[in-house]
Amino acid sequence: MREVIIIGSGPAGFTAAIYAARANLRPLVISGMERGGQVTLTNDLENFPGFPEGLGGFEMYQLFEKQATRFGAEMLYDVVTSVDLSGEIKHVSTATQSFSSRVVIIATGSTPKRLGVPGEDKYIGKGVSYCATCDGFFFSGKKVAVIGGGNSALDEGLFLTRFAAQVTIIHRRDRLRADAILQERAENNEKVSFIWDSVVEEVVGQETVTQLKLRNVKTQAISDFAVDGVFVFIGHKPNTELFAGQVDLDAGNYIATDRRTHTNLAGVFACGDVQDSIYRQAITAAGSGCAAALEAERYIAEHEGRGYPGK
Ligand code: NAP
Repeated sequence: MREVIIIGSGPAGFTAAIYAARANLRPLVISGMERGGQVTLTNDLENFPGFPEGLGGFEMYQLFEKQATRFGAEMLYDVVTSVDLSGEIKHVSTATQSFSSRVVIIATGSTPKRLGVPGEDKYIGKGVSYCATCDGFFFSGKKVAVIGGGNSALDEGLFLTRFAAQVTIIHRRDRLRADAILQERAENNEKVSFIWDSVVEEVVGQETVTQLKLRNVKTQAISDFAVDGVFVFIGHKPNTELFAGQVDLDAGNYIATDRRTHTNLAGVFACGDVQDSIYRQAITAAGSGCAAALEAERYIAEHEGRGYPGK
């Protein structure tokens, strides 16, 4: 029987772990499949305060973990396969172990969306990728396409220029969603070009990807675009399958919380990208992780009949 189990090991989960550990709640952090979460897919975090020179995503994960375990958080590198969160005692299971706790903090994050077009699944790992940091190196001197017009597309597209000979950003509109600073960097990079108003209809290849079938959404014209690889950055979907039917979700399948990270279930809190469809930043995830741990501490104190400062 534990006080707090934290599911997920991104900035939200680890910040919750640091706060819960410092409150002597000895949290168990169950990492999930991708230790460190999406932040580890980011090559260079330039907007997390305190790191004026930027920091690699994987490096940041290692620092988070070091800080959380220093205060007594316990790590389990495993994947949660089922939960029962309805009662006062919560049950969390992996394939081989089961745990009980008074509080569960959900910090399972979100996953990159897929295009859902023919050929996409077939060529994953053979030219289709969702992570420039992981796969960019394999495209040295090659021609790649990046799908999307948000911060991820431009950030990752710019990172790819370190390896690829040519990076073409294909966007479904004629205007980017990304921050102005990234737009400016992309426009000034001679390796980067744009195809506007276009969507991918099919990923085509032989052993590996050789071309994309594109459709211009204004003219409906179909064209073939030769590439060696395609990187997809079209947003994310929250990792909430495990909780559906127990924890209330919103219309976008994000976990519904109040502004104090409470879910509909007493003793269950959610933080980070799994409950945030708006900001989705490492720093906002960390902030909500802090809030979730403080709320967990308050909940436990109240159940023990203790007061909690600053109510
Ligand atoms: P996003 O901001 O939701 O952008 C997704 C992009 O993909 C949009 O341009 C969207 O087009 C396009 N798109 C969506 N569905 C599509 C489809 N089916 N086919 C083609 N295009 C599609 O997602 P994101 O770029 O992953 O960013 C997520 C969050 O992380 C944001 O809050 C972002 O600011 C943050 N982030 C920040 C940084 C940074 O600060 N450096 C870096 C990475 C991410 P429309 O524009 O037409 O909707």
